[in-house]
Amino acid sequence: MRYISTRGQAPALNFEDVLLAGLATDGGLYVPENLPRFTQEEIASWSGLPYHELAFRVMRPFVTGSIPDADFKKILEETYGVFSHSAIAPLRQLNGNEWVLELFHGPTLAFKDFALQLLGRLLDYVLAKRGERVVIIGATSGDTGSAAIEGCKHCENVDIFILHPHKRVSEVQRRQMTTIFGDNIHNIAIEGNFDDCQEMVKNSFADQSFLKGTRLVAVNSINWARIMAQIVYYFHAALQLGGPARSVSFSVPTGNFGDIFAGYLARNMGLPINQLIVATNRNDILHRFMSGNQYVKETLHATLSPSMDIMVSSNFERLLFDMHGRNGAAIAGLMDNFKQGGGFSVEQERWTETRKLFDSLAVDDAQTCETIAEVYAQTGELLDPHTAIGVKAARECRRSLDIPMVILGTAHPVKFPEAVEKAGVGKALELPTHLADLFEREERCTVLANDLKAVQAFVSQHGNRGKPL
Ligand SMILES: *Cc1c(COP(=O)(O)O)cnc(C)c1O
Repeated sequence: MRYISTRGQAPALNFEDVLLAGLATDGGLYVPENLPRFTQEEIASWSGLPYHELAFRVMRPFVTGSIPDADFKKILEETYGVFSHSAIAPLRQLNGNEWVLELFHGPTLAFKDFALQLLGRLLDYVLAKRGERVVIIGATSGDTGSAAIEGCKHCENVDIFILHPHKRVSEVQRRQMTTIFGDNIHNIAIEGNFDDCQEMVKNSFADQSFLKGTRLVAVNSINWARIMAQIVYYFHAALQLGGPARSVSFSVPTGNFGDIFAGYLARNMGLPINQLIVATNRNDILHRFMSGNQYVKETLHATLSPSMDIMVSSNFERLLFDMHGRNGAAIAGLMDNFKQGGGFSVEQERWTETRKLFDSLAVDDAQTCETIAEVYAQTGELLDPHTAIGVKAARECRRSLDIPMVILGTAHPVKFPEAVEKAGVGKALELPTHLADLFEREERCTVLANDLKAVQAFVSQHGNRGKPL
């Protein structure tokens, strides 16, 4: 499989190189040159497979040429073996034909484990084969950091540095990062905000001289391997609800458009999906596009669903590329204009075509809390605030009651006690067994000034299993 850039200029890469790449050299994002397509018979024959075997069948075409089948199977078995629920991604019924796909049974209790547990293992496999080491530098406002650290902690060939804004992530989220020890794991608290952290990561990609030749790898959702891993659970859910003979709809709590883009790909690979709902919080650039054909940046609002607090959605470029007949030059033009501060609309026919599949809703904090309380009263299920936004959007935007509606349950409520408390649900939140002693565990973290040079010096002093590069 070959991968091409959404801006049309960068060289095509194979899977192995795309795994190790960040942005393409032309500033674009990598996508498969040709998407695999499965027949209905083929998809139907996967019914009842264990999750890792389904994952093998769905993802195999993306890695052919880079990873032999037997090795890929073994990696997938290990990856999904660490999940605490034997169904990996169980479906729970909320209402008539309405389901939550629970994606929070991985080590860090958010859906990001599905991709990052795989990414860590794929990186280590490929690097061992090449005899190389890499450094990861990532910024997090919460879920990504812990999932990336958990995914990379056993990697022999990866040193991971996660930057979080000092005193500005929740205690559960901080402890999920700082209580994991290893000579290749480095937590850095920056005396600044999340944007400062993200800016440092960007600048480090732009000038990598401080790494002395060691390759820098991206773990945010611009990395293709993360999107690829997320395609699998759309198939998994649909197969349990009568697919592919019957079509299914999905409502997806959305920030950077990675998770829902995976659903869009599942549909293009042959899975009958009737409707995809983009559920956002008050940071609603995607809802403004889907409802009014305007892609315009606005100021950032802090919400009760912090993992969706974004101003722009990086993976949206991947959809725009398809929307424009995969014309890289057109996307480069749009994105240049956007960078200059201009928003954009797309041609009316393109937008109308997109809207045949996508609907959207923006849900504010008050509605999020109302939904948590409502669902708890109806079913006894406690939703996390991100999932609650998905449920609200599903209920408002649903086109057909006859088609099963699946809401992606993106996090466990215990990660977001503030929202649950505000919702007035009097249920005590308990950490799952493997995290039960989280609040007693020792923490390791280095606090650094909001200073790029200081951070880069720290990385080059510790980037080789804690030793200098
Ligand atoms: C990351 C995250 C999201 C947003 O996913 P995107 O792929 O960025 O759209 C939603 N909910 C939770 C809990 C998350 O951690």
